[in-house]
Amino acid sequence: MDLQLLAQTLDELGEPPFRARQVWRWTSRGADSYESMTDLPLALRSVLAERVPFSTLAVENEAHARDGTVKALFRTADGHPVEAVLMRYRDGRRSLCLSSQSGCPLTCTFCATGQMRFGRNLTASEVVDQALHFRRLGPVDHAVFMGMGEPLMNLDAVLAACERLPDVGITARRTAISTVGWIPGIVRLAADPRPLGLALSLHAADPVLRSALMPVNDRYPLEDVLAACEDYHRRKRRKVFVEYVMLAGINDSHVQAVQLADALGSAGPNTYKVNLIPYNPTGSAFEGSSPKAIEAFRAELERRGLRATVRLTRGRDIDAACGQLAAAG
Ligand code: SAH
Repeated sequence: MDLQLLAQTLDELGEPPFRARQVWRWTSRGADSYESMTDLPLALRSVLAERVPFSTLAVENEAHARDGTVKALFRTADGHPVEAVLMRYRDGRRSLCLSSQSGCPLTCTFCATGQMRFGRNLTASEVVDQALHFRRLGPVDHAVFMGMGEPLMNLDAVLAACERLPDVGITARRTAISTVGWIPGIVRLAADPRPLGLALSLHAADPVLRSALMPVNDRYPLEDVLAACEDYHRRKRRKVFVEYVMLAGINDSHVQAVQLADALGSAGPNTYKVNLIPYNPTGSAFEGSSPKAIEAFRAELERRGLRATVRLTRGRDIDAACGQLAAAG
């Protein structure tokens, strides 16, 4: 819902300012239409339905995985595809994976979104509307900006959306923003007063390999990115999560685990936590590392004093897992 358009429309209709808050209260708590907002005058409900689209996104498809994961494909009013995912965990956690852009201008070689055409930055309303869609299915409490796009290239809209998410049930402390290492955005996040989490997609400590996998490394070399992450850690006193997708024979050797530990090790034991991600098929030439290779890599990191876990893969049977978001068109 475009809250600016809502406020402007209510103003034009001569409605008092509390109406906008009333509408938002219903919407942020999972209402599915103006119709259901029973403390709003009937006539106003139908005028709003005509003048302020209930969502900036149209739902085009929804897929349900066996593990309870739900992937939604939306379309913006001007026709751009957007995907978002709801992950349900056994402990009751309900986590959203949100998109910040339609497609992505960066071209990481292993990522499906990087292979599709870049559309545009999403607006804050388009980000919040992804969350509201899933809120209608039930309460939600965590969000990660790990869907389509590079959130730190669209940080104004992402931060504006983060202003609204607490009303939907997701506090800043339970929101994490994932980046390829877009330094100006990391610097801004470090200065932001809210306790937003930071995750870095690292994938290779060796500069030549990292540039081959993620061309953005030529623009923002890893060394400088890590310096920015460490500054974030000092200011926020929050661990930075490092994502490392495990590609067989590419970045999963013993030597490469040692390189990663060295790159992260100088910062102190509680600065980083490594999350090893099993590779999800995207039609690229890569193959995922074996569970044995992933475990050996993890053990080596731990042996060198880094905390490291292996990410649970969710929603792979509906192409909803990490790196698999890509919609035709
Ligand atoms: N652009 C941001 C936000 C997207 S996060 C970023 O890259 O951090 C999506 C995460 O999934 C990133 O860590 C990305 O590197 C990872 N990923 C991409 N393709 C993948 C694949 N095929 N299998 C597993 N993880 C993948």
